Amino acid sequence: MEGKVFKSTGLWYEVVDNHGNHHKCRLRGKIKLKGMKTSNPIAVGDSVQFYLEDNPENTGVITKILPRNNYIVRKATQKSKQSHILAANIDQAILMVTHTYPKTSLGFIDRFLVTAESFRIPVIILFNKCDLLGEEEEGAVKKIMALYETIGYSSHLISVLEDTGIDSFFNIIKGKTSLLAGHSGVGKSSLLNKVIPDIDQKIGDVSNFANKGIHTTTFAEMFEAAPGTYLIDTPGIKELGLSEIDRQELSHYFPEMRDLLGKCKFHNCHHIHEPGCLILQSLENGDIAQTRYDSYFSMYHNEDNRR
Ligand code: GDP
Repeated sequence: MEGKVFKSTGLWYEVVDNHGNHHKCRLRGKIKLKGMKTSNPIAVGDSVQFYLEDNPENTGVITKILPRNNYIVRKATQKSKQSHILAANIDQAILMVTHTYPKTSLGFIDRFLVTAESFRIPVIILFNKCDLLGEEEEGAVKKIMALYETIGYSSHLISVLEDTGIDSFFNIIKGKTSLLAGHSGVGKSSLLNKVIPDIDQKIGDVSNFANKGIHTTTFAEMFEAAPGTYLIDTPGIKELGLSEIDRQELSHYFPEMRDLLGKCKFHNCHHIHEPGCLILQSLENGDIAQTRYDSYFSMYHNEDNRR
């Protein structure tokens, strides 16, 4: 049988077959993935082949992962030493941010965008909690949205609480697999509760099953908002991590810098202080925003953010 992985605990996988039936599956033996060192070879969003075992619980065994269009690797942290694949076959990422309660920094947004660029995954930015904004704050948020729109990131002002912009959000995700990300407290669960039918019944099913006496980590979970429309929730995951990006590549992942690359005076220009740097010139004449350059500068110098 073929199906999609909706949940991955590293031990058990929830697989939904083409008829919408959910199966608890595990991996038999080792599925080898070329050149990939990972603690968990199967990710949410993967398409897999599996068969059902003849036992009362009707569990399944995954035998093959079908080729992926793309995937996001979550780099190792101090807590989890090995990197793992967070999700696969993603059409777009939805980054949910808030201006207040909590405040999402522009540096955080930019780091997320750079990571997604490196995985070639388009990002849509949702500015939630617009109901909390006064006139002045709303003006400030609209300026930030305009900045990201100019660079090429579609940005939307919404309020999950007041149902503002939820219809257009649905149009954005329709027929696609979207990864939902953002700081804790910005309103991701509230949004999922709004757009996923019967979500309460869907949460916890497999984790209860998988957690029986065994400690497991839940990495991500996929929900079906409508036929063919999937949302991947990434609970507890703050940042994707810029694991594979090196200094020289960094400017490639800033779309507004990309067109200028190779045109600086020095071909190996790092855009930090070199004379004849077109990026620094664009910063000076306002074509590149100071906040974006600051993010570049900070990522360039922060070893943690790079290989
Ligand atoms: P998550 O951590 O990203 O999943 O955030 P939650 O969905 O748990 O939301 C955190 C808090 O923000 C909760 O108290 C929600 O009720 C509240 N919240 C979510 N959306 C909105 C919104 O649009 N406006 C306001 N004022 N509060 C919201």
